[in-house]
Amino acid sequence: MSEYDAIIVGGGPAGATVGTLLAEKGRKVVILEKEKFPRYHVGESLMPFCYFTFERLGVIDKLNERAYTNKHSVQFVTKDGRMSAPFYFFQHLDHPAATTWQVKRSEFDEILLDNAREKGAEVREETQVVDFLYEGDTVVGVTAKGKDGESYELRAPITVDASGRDSLFQTKRRWRKRDPKLKKIAIWTLYKGAKRDPDLDEGATTVAYLDDRGWFWNIPMKDDIVSSGIVAERDYLYKDTRDPKSIFEREIENNAWIKDHLSCGEQFGEYWVTGEYSYRSEHCAADGIVLVGDAFAFLDPVFSSGVFLALKSGEMAADAIDSALQKSDTSSVAFSDYGERLCQSMETMRSLVYAFYDEGFSFGKLVRKHGDLRGTLTDCLIGDLVDKDYGPLMEAIGGLASLPEALPYGRTAAKSSA
Ligand SMILES: Cc1cc2nc3c(=O)[nH]c(=O)nc-3n(C[C@H](O)[C@H](O)[C@H](O)COP(=O)(O)OP(=O)(O)OC[C@H]3O[C@@H](n4cnc5c(N)ncnc54)[C@H](O)[C@@H]3O)c2cc1C
Repeated sequence: MSEYDAIIVGGGPAGATVGTLLAEKGRKVVILEKEKFPRYHVGESLMPFCYFTFERLGVIDKLNERAYTNKHSVQFVTKDGRMSAPFYFFQHLDHPAATTWQVKRSEFDEILLDNAREKGAEVREETQVVDFLYEGDTVVGVTAKGKDGESYELRAPITVDASGRDSLFQTKRRWRKRDPKLKKIAIWTLYKGAKRDPDLDEGATTVAYLDDRGWFWNIPMKDDIVSSGIVAERDYLYKDTRDPKSIFEREIENNAWIKDHLSCGEQFGEYWVTGEYSYRSEHCAADGIVLVGDAFAFLDPVFSSGVFLALKSGEMAADAIDSALQKSDTSSVAFSDYGERLCQSMETMRSLVYAFYDEGFSFGKLVRKHGDLRGTLTDCLIGDLVDKDYGPLMEAIGGLASLPEALPYGRTAAKSSA
C-alpha cells in the first residue's frame, strides 16, 4: 500500500508546479526538498509565457505584491556597445503576460513552494532523496534522508524527478547526454548600484556579445541589484587564468556597454561557476517515474527559457500523471505525449540557441531580410513554444545559420526502445 499518490524529488519551480496542480486535483503528494528555503538560485529572468502557468497555480497576485522589476523586453548589444532595437513583448502580445519579471529566485521559489503547501501538498524541507526503490524495473518510491540523518522509504505509484541540474535519476541511470555543440561554461555574480537604462528599458534583459560568440547577461532586479554573468567556451574563458574574479574583470573590459553599466556599481558576494552546460536525458520517463524541468534537460540560458520550461513541463507532467492515476497505469507509455510535446518545444528553442552562436547569424540580419517574421520570432522569445510549428521561421533562420538536427532522444523509455 502506498501512502502517497505521487512523490516529488525537489521543490524548485518544476517540483512545486507538479505538487500544486496534483494537490489541487485531490491527489496526495509529498515534495522532498534537500535545502531549507529560501535558498539562493540563479535564473532570475522570466519569459512572458510563464504567466499562464502562474495563473493556473494562482500566484499572480502574490508575485505582483513582491514588486519585482518589470521586464518588457530583451535587447542585444554588440562588443563596441551598439544596441539593437529592443524586442518589446507588448508590441506583439496584447495581454498582461507581455510584462514579465526579473525575480529574486530565493523569494520566488519560496512563493511557489509555499503555494504548493497551501494547496495541500506535504512539503518536507532538508530532506534529501538518496535513491529510488524498484519492483522489477518499475520505480515504486524513494529512499530519503531527513535532517536528523535517518534514512526512510516512501512509496507511491509515481515518482517525479524535479531535482534540477543534480538530475538524480538520469545520473543514476547514466542517461545524461550533453548537447554536441553547446559546451559552454558560465561565471556570474551580483552588483549593487549598477547603471540602469531609463523608462521602459530599466528592466530589460540585455545580452551583450564578447569574442568567439561569448556573451554577458545583464539582469536588473529589485533593491538596486543586477545579476551579471558570462557564458562562453571554456578555452576562451580559461585562456590565461582559472580565477573567476580575474576572468570576470577581464571580460568587462571587452564590452563597452557592460563596462559603462557595471563600472558605477559595486560587486558583492560570490563568483559562481558552472560547467556541463546543455544536456538532455536519454528518456523523459520510465515505469513509475517521470522527469521534469532541469532534471530532464537543460538548455543554454541565452533566451531565459529555463524557468518557463520547468513550469511548463511541471504543468504537462501533472496533467499526464493525473490521467495515469485515474487509469491506474503509471507505466512509461502514459508519458509518451508529454515527451513528444516537450521535446518539440525544446527543439524550437534549441534551434534559436544554435543560431545565436552561429557566426553568420544576427537578429538584425534576420529581421532586415524577413521583416514579416519579426512577430513570429517574438512568439519564440516570449515562450509560445508548445504545440507550435515554426517551420517558416526556421527556414528563414536556416538561410543565415546552420541549424541542428532534432535530437533523437528524450522520449519515454518504452517508446524509444520499442
Ligand atoms: C548560469 C545559468 C543562468 C540561468 N539563467 C536563467 C534565466 O535568466 N532565466 C531562466 O528562466 N532560467 C535560467 N537558468 C535556468 C534555471 O535556473 C533553471 O532552468 C530552473 O531553475 C529549473 O527549475 P527546476 O525546478 O527544474 O530546478 P531547480 O530550480 O534547480 O530546483 C531543483 C530543486 O531540487 C532540489 N534537489 C536536488 N537534488 C535533490 C535531492 N536529491 N533530494 C531532494 N531535493 C533535491 C534542489 O535543492 C532544488 O531546490 C539559468 C541557469 C544557469 C545555470
